[in-house]
Amino acid sequence: MKVLVLGAGIVGVTTAYELNRDGHEVTVIDREALPASFTSYGNAGLFAPSHAYAWSSPAAPGILLRSLWRNDQALRFRPTPDPQFWNWMWKFWQQCTTERAALNTQRKARLCAYSLGVFHETLARAKIAYDGRQDGILYLYRSQKALDAAGAKADLLRKEGCVIELIGRDGVAAKDPALSEVKGKFAGALFAPNDESGDCRLFTRNMAKWLEEKGVTFKFGTTVTGFELEGDRIKAVVTDKGREAGDIIVLALGVYSPHLARQLGAKLPIYPVKGYSITAPVAGRNNPPGIGGIDEENLVAYAPYGDRVRATATAEFSGYGRTHRPEDFRAMLAVMRELFPHGADWERSEYWAGLRPMTPEGTPILGQGRYRNLWFNTGQGHMGWTMSHGASRITADLIAGKKPKIPLDGMILT
Ligand SMILES: Cc1cc2nc3c(=O)[nH]c(=O)nc-3n(C[C@H](O)[C@H](O)[C@H](O)COP(=O)(O)OP(=O)(O)OC[C@H]3O[C@@H](n4cnc5c(N)ncnc54)[C@H](O)[C@@H]3O)c2cc1C
Repeated sequence: MKVLVLGAGIVGVTTAYELNRDGHEVTVIDREALPASFTSYGNAGLFAPSHAYAWSSPAAPGILLRSLWRNDQALRFRPTPDPQFWNWMWKFWQQCTTERAALNTQRKARLCAYSLGVFHETLARAKIAYDGRQDGILYLYRSQKALDAAGAKADLLRKEGCVIELIGRDGVAAKDPALSEVKGKFAGALFAPNDESGDCRLFTRNMAKWLEEKGVTFKFGTTVTGFELEGDRIKAVVTDKGREAGDIIVLALGVYSPHLARQLGAKLPIYPVKGYSITAPVAGRNNPPGIGGIDEENLVAYAPYGDRVRATATAEFSGYGRTHRPEDFRAMLAVMRELFPHGADWERSEYWAGLRPMTPEGTPILGQGRYRNLWFNTGQGHMGWTMSHGASRITADLIAGKKPKIPLDGMILT
């Protein structure tokens, strides 16, 4: 069958991979010139089932409200009159109970763990270069109280199969010798030996090249504007370069998915949550991070990518804008300079801002649309690199009429 995948971020490209494997004729359409040019461009690259906590929790409304008058670098909340924003916030607020937070965390963790297995199978088949590290992630805590609380909370993820060890500051230095000089700043860490990291952009672009060799067609610089409908089917996708007919359409447009889905009678509860990243060259510096990590008190995530180091921070509700100013990176740079003073040439950092396609629950939207040949694979939020491989395998299984390997509760649009 001829499948059109809309969007060439990590989600669209992994969808193309799975559908090509299943024997379909696949065309991927994206308005950018290269794959992974939007949100999949500059994320932290943590492949982290052990970080699958739902953002909605009993503490979340208070944290959001306080950010209105605090100049918080980690979380910024700028209410707008946009009804899409208030609709999303209302749904998010409904998820902020202890029970919903636990359930959403469990569902996210299950998908992430499944996705890790799919990712390894893909790597074994496709040998994609992506500057990956498969030696665990450190979740660092500065106070003993916060470390103990995190260790207890992690039971929720351990129940979903995540291996999470509580280690002291000497353990931190042993896992990543680059932190030896500053280990005294930390009470310790949670160490997740099965979590990984790697450059999502590099992976997506190399996988797209590999797929082109396997016969997948990529149409870049092509903006999807609408659809030709016939009864309960989509006959063709309309773009600024003409129409493209297909038997099956997969919508994987990240934060823009709701805009086009609206034309197809679907209200997707996805809202952009902005984040910022820096990428600095190691450039002769002698002590870059050895493995990925998160400074949990400052909410700065980082990962080593060969001769570069990436760090990300901030969850900002401020609409679809992607502009940035030097002060948006100041706090994150200060943390990276504190932890890895000899880790990279921080002065030469590349600055970037991107939009996480967040659902109120934190779980993605998968499954069939109102039109019989329309499928959704979108809304992976702050964990799209981690979830994409599993979500795309599930999408291919659903299209093939096969039962997915994990339950999809909370991920199917009702
Ligand atoms: C700061 C930050 C840090 C993050 N860190 C992590 C992390 O450590 N681990 C993790 O797992 N995830 C992380 N994420 C989340 C992850 O990056 C996203 O979930 C993921 O990139 C989303 O992929 P996507 O393919 O759905 O969206 P995108 O990458 O945005 O792809 C959607 C594509 O659709 C195209 N498009 C949109 N509209 C149209 C149209 N009308 N016509 C044609 N094409 C169109 C866009 O050009 C784009 O290429 C982070 C995100 C941010 C912002």
